[in-house]
Amino acid sequence: MIGLLGFVALWALGRWRGWGASWLALAAGWWVILLLAHLPFQAENPLAGIVGGDFGGWIVFGMLAAAVLGYREVLRAVRRRKAVAPSETAPSGAFREAELDRYARHILLREIGGPGQKRLKGAKVLVVGAGGLGSPVLLYLAAAGVGVIGVIDHDVVEGSNLQRQVIHTDGRIGMPKVFSAEVAMRALNPFIEVRPYHRQLTEEIAVDLVRDYDLVLDGTDDFETRYLVNRACVAAGVPLISGAITQWEGQVSLFDPAKGGPCYACVFPVKPAAGLVPTCAEAGVAAPLPGIIGSMMAMEAVKWVTGAGEGLAGRLVIHDALYTETRVIGVKRRADCEVCGGRH
Ligand SMILES: [Zn+2]
Repeated sequence: MIGLLGFVALWALGRWRGWGASWLALAAGWWVILLLAHLPFQAENPLAGIVGGDFGGWIVFGMLAAAVLGYREVLRAVRRRKAVAPSETAPSGAFREAELDRYARHILLREIGGPGQKRLKGAKVLVVGAGGLGSPVLLYLAAAGVGVIGVIDHDVVEGSNLQRQVIHTDGRIGMPKVFSAEVAMRALNPFIEVRPYHRQLTEEIAVDLVRDYDLVLDGTDDFETRYLVNRACVAAGVPLISGAITQWEGQVSLFDPAKGGPCYACVFPVKPAAGLVPTCAEAGVAAPLPGIIGSMMAMEAVKWVTGAGEGLAGRLVIHDALYTETRVIGVKRRADCEVCGGRH
């Protein structure tokens, strides 16, 4: 009797102290003690009389308990799988009533319509960086109904980010940016799938990661990562929408050398010397500027996915917010580009 009460006591203690499943480890330990107390071929063990039962009985009890717990785990696994069943988040297939209502203003547009919205639902887009440019990019891609949105960033939200990184909130300071972004995107649109990668993009993973997506948007503010993303996109044959901002000025373009346009390295072949182009942290940036440039990036992504209008391949937009001037300049592929030259 004491033997059984021991299990009940451990379970109750676990509930009270919030141990989760770790009470099971203690329960297993208690079961081993009970078995040892009843071990056959030993001198009369005084503990055996106190805890009650016999060796065979406790063996059967242990097997039954293991069977019940195992069955419960299987049920849980099945339920977990059901919770993310394809019908809930599937990027393709028919729209549900609530989705038709949500995307009604897109479906009204001749250039997007039902087929374009379906393409958005079936699209997989990777966003590098969940900072200033990433914020509007991620929010608008989520709102627009892009079916699968991956986001990679190794930073955590800091107070100094919130002046412009509008996807994050004061309450989420200290949280990894990709998870903070995921919370905001899920709250905005529960019909999409968000894949957060809380890590730095490195040479080892870049090509494999990019290959999983149809389109990449890069809004990082360090040149190493920009060139790495470009190399990975060229290697994987995936188009890249690249945006950059500093102080009052920003630029955006689409690089798709597989279709004949230039790659990022064709236009910016030489990395600026260290310290020549200051980052936002060094030089400052006006709050709405990433909103302007990031929204243009999201716009180009929606156009690319749906096939609407004319994309930015071969053109670079430069926006000067201080004097409210926008220029569009032509950019060309360089045959001697060390990234995309001779590839296509
Ligand atoms: Zn190139």
